[in-house]
Amino acid sequence: MNILTSEIISTLTNIVNSQEFVPLHTPIFKGNEIKYVTDCIKSNFVSSVGEYTKKFEAQLSEYLGAKRVVLTVNGTSALHVCLMLSGVEANDEVLMPALTFVATANAVAYIGATPHFVDVDDASLGVDSIKLSKYLSAITVIKNGECFNKDTGKRIKAIVPMHTFGHMSDMDAINAVAGEYFIDVIEDAAESLGSLYKGKQSGTLSKLAALSFNGNKIITAGGGGAIVTNDDNLADKAVHITTTAKKPHKWEYHHDMVGYNYRMPAINAALALAQLENLDEFLLKKRALAIRYKEAFAKVAGVKLFMEPEFSQSNYWLNALILDEGNEQLRDEVLEHTNNNLIMTRPVWDLLDTLNMYKDSPKMDLTVSRSLAKRIINIPSSAWVGS
Ligand SMILES: *Cc1c(COP(=O)(O)O)cnc(C)c1O
Repeated sequence: MNILTSEIISTLTNIVNSQEFVPLHTPIFKGNEIKYVTDCIKSNFVSSVGEYTKKFEAQLSEYLGAKRVVLTVNGTSALHVCLMLSGVEANDEVLMPALTFVATANAVAYIGATPHFVDVDDASLGVDSIKLSKYLSAITVIKNGECFNKDTGKRIKAIVPMHTFGHMSDMDAINAVAGEYFIDVIEDAAESLGSLYKGKQSGTLSKLAALSFNGNKIITAGGGGAIVTNDDNLADKAVHITTTAKKPHKWEYHHDMVGYNYRMPAINAALALAQLENLDEFLLKKRALAIRYKEAFAKVAGVKLFMEPEFSQSNYWLNALILDEGNEQLRDEVLEHTNNNLIMTRPVWDLLDTLNMYKDSPKMDLTVSRSLAKRIINIPSSAWVGS
C-alpha cells in the first residue's frame, strides 16, 4: 500500500476510534423525538393539517430569521416548487454547479427545463462567481430584461447555487452576477442548515431557498424539506401548490391549477421539531470533530481536510478530505480499504454532466469540478464520532 494511503487510514482510524462499523452520517434521537411523535399520534392528526406542521414551520422560521417556511415532503419537492415560484418554465435553462447531488438537476427536469452546468471554485466548493461572470458575458444576450443563451436560444431563468457539504458559496458575489443578468437565485441549502454566511443563516440569502430533512442530513424529519422565503406572496403560493392547489373552503373541492401533494405530514414535523431543538448542540459537536480531523490531517502531507471559507461558518455536515493534485490515484485505495474495514467513506457524486440524462446539457469549462471530483473523500461525520 502507498505510504500516504496508510497514513490517511491510520489517522482516520485513530480519530473515529471504534471497533464497530462507523457510518458516514447518522441522526441522533436523544431529545423530545419520542414525546412529540407520540403526542402527534395521540392527536390523531398525523397528516399535514396536524398542529406539528405549523409548529415546526414557526420554530424553523424563527431559527432562520426568515419570514416564512413552507414544509414539503422532501428537499427535491421543495426545489421543484421554488423553481415554479420563480417562474421557470419548460424549455428554460437553469444554471447550477455540475458538482451537486442529482436532485438539483432533477427538479429542473421535472419542469421540462434544462440544467446548465457551471464550474465551482476550490475555496468554497460552490459556484465560481468570477468564472460565471466571464462565461455569461460571452454566451448570453439580454432582451427585454431577460437573459438568453446565444448558443441554444433558450432563456436562462434562474441559478441554483448549492452549499456543498455545508460549506457556503459566496452568495454576495453570486447574487451580484445573477442580478446583472436578470437571473433569479434559488439557494439549494439542503446540506447547509445552520451554516452562516457573513453572519446570516444559509437559506436566507436569496429570494427562495430549499432545505432537506432526509435521514442523512444534519437534522431529519425521516424525510422532508422546506421552502424558505421572506416573501408572503410566494409563501402563500407555495402552500397552494403543495396542497393540490385547493381553494380553501369548508367543504368544497375546487382546484385552480395542476397542484402537487407535497406538504410534510405532521408526524414527520413532530420528529423534526425535536431534532431542531438539538441543532445548536449538533453544530458544536460537528465543529469540534472537524477541528480534530483538521489538526490530525495537518500532519499528513498530501491531503487536507476542507475547512469553511473565510466569509462563513460551516455546519460541517459532511467532512471532506481533499487529496492534493497529483495524489488522485490514491482515492480508490483509501475508499476500498476503509469501506472493507468498518469505516464508511465515499467519493463525491459523479459530476452531473457525466450522467446519461444530462450528458447533452449545456455547460461551461468544468476543469476545477473535474479535478475536485477525483480528489474528494467524505469521511464519517456524525456528531457522536470519536466520542
Ligand atoms: C439531499 C439533497 C437534496 C434533496 O433532498 P431530499 O430531501 O433527499 O429530496 C437536494 N440537493 C442536495 C444538494 C442534497 O444534498
